[in-house]
Amino acid sequence: MTTMDKPDLIVIGAGPAGLSAALEAARHGSSVLLLDEQPEPGGQVYRNVMKASAKQDEILGPDYKAGRLLVSSIENVEIDYRSGVTVWQVGADGSVAFSQNEEAYQVHGRHIILATGAMERPVPLPGWIVPGVMTAGAAQILMKSGGLVARDAILVGSGPLLYLLSSQMIAAGSPPKALVETQSFNNLCLAMTHIKGVVLGWRQLLKGLQLIRQIRKAGVPRYKAATEISVIGTDQAEAISFTTKGRKHKLDASTVLLHQGVVPNTQISRSLGLKHRWNENQRCFYPVTNDVGQSSIEKVSIAGDGAGISGAKAAEYTGRLAALNALHKLGLISEVARDQRAVPLLRARKKEIAIRPFLDQLYAPPAEILRPRGKTIVCRCEEVTADDISSYAALGCKGPNQTKAFGRSGMGPCQGRFCGATVTEILSKETGLHPEQVGSYRIRAPLKPVTLGELAALTDVPQKEIVS
Ligand SMILES: Cc1cc2nc3c(=O)[nH]c(=O)nc-3n(C[C@H](O)[C@H](O)[C@H](O)COP(=O)(O)OP(=O)(O)OC[C@H]3O[C@@H](n4cnc5c(N)ncnc54)[C@H](O)[C@@H]3O)c2cc1C
Repeated sequence: MTTMDKPDLIVIGAGPAGLSAALEAARHGSSVLLLDEQPEPGGQVYRNVMKASAKQDEILGPDYKAGRLLVSSIENVEIDYRSGVTVWQVGADGSVAFSQNEEAYQVHGRHIILATGAMERPVPLPGWIVPGVMTAGAAQILMKSGGLVARDAILVGSGPLLYLLSSQMIAAGSPPKALVETQSFNNLCLAMTHIKGVVLGWRQLLKGLQLIRQIRKAGVPRYKAATEISVIGTDQAEAISFTTKGRKHKLDASTVLLHQGVVPNTQISRSLGLKHRWNENQRCFYPVTNDVGQSSIEKVSIAGDGAGISGAKAAEYTGRLAALNALHKLGLISEVARDQRAVPLLRARKKEIAIRPFLDQLYAPPAEILRPRGKTIVCRCEEVTADDISSYAALGCKGPNQTKAFGRSGMGPCQGRFCGATVTEILSKETGLHPEQVGSYRIRAPLKPVTLGELAALTDVPQKEIVS
């Protein structure tokens, strides 16, 4: 392991939140180390945007292409940006351990901004582990980074990303065979109670309606309020079955793309023991922060979807807010200056997220996905089923950490990323406890697999020898 000197600020994640934070901080004279796992900056939304072809730009749409402006900005500002870096430990003292090219490094920052974004909510329905089934986000990653488009795919679930991906597949000449959607008329009625936010966020609504119009124009069949969804097939997906309006359907499909919205990636914030709360609308945990992204630990701020799902534009604002907070903590700007500069950003963010409560209600994941039953696998790494988790609860298991001892759930290489939310939901249902009382897995370093060789290579070298 190699130890580096102290930069003022370490930003983890180079999506819109992390890039905006790094730019804001560097422009105010702070030394910034920006770390990201991907080969190129841009995060999930602007993945590979600097290398995308004109054809990819056309297929992925104007919002994707527009990200090039933000991503290219880091070339003109002094930021120590490192790609292909996996952060696997973060300490409350400002230490960050990461691996790059099979070498491990440790660096100390005076302040850290976590901008690690969101991940797709797991969609544990019968057959979700069969080859040919993946998440809609994974299919979009193939389009962004490899120019590959899924063929004859059926998209299943709910949420804006499902419509965006459909429109991108249509533009790529490979429209989905069908959309099987879980939201119902009841969801719409509940969402209408948040109509005020729609007025403020009319632009986003318009975008969504345009996507739906494209899907309709392309003749893609849409099935709504689908329940009892399962994928049929053993070695390969062959079909999906579901019920709508009391009628059973079976559609042939070798590719099934699942999506039920995204949830904050809290692996690092959890491992740090930061304070988290449960969001009833989005049905997920999020780390507690104040308006400028300050977490419950002095040296750590959080920005972007990792602090709560708000979307790419809001992530830019929260990135800049977290940077202002960090600059204040570093003694580079006063509290008054921080708060004054925060005002227009907070206003812009408020406008940007006004539509969220409406969307959260409209596309709320159904109970059968949140709390699956029977032989459906919940923990894919250790092959623990929904029934297994329920049976642990019947034996007195009250929290996710105990399920590890009962049946190894959450103990595989994904570190509970895939099953954590579902285990909390099932235990909450079985015990009658609120998800906040049930809690979530305790996360420990290393957050991602790291080799013994990397850990063993402990060398201290001066910063200039390794900073490119
Ligand atoms: C699969 C997927 C696809 C999406 N596609 C779209 C889309 O097309 N359009 C849209 O509007 N929204 C999309 N979203 C929602 C979108 O993620 C956000 O609104 C926006 O990208 C949030 O920005 P962010 O900066 O908070 O996080 P992100 O853009 O997610 O950036 C987080 C970055 O942190 C890095 N990171 C995470 N953990 C580590 C670690 N341990 N070590 C090093 N680096 C790490 C990741 O590599 C990533 O680059 C998508 C979400 C997902 C999960």
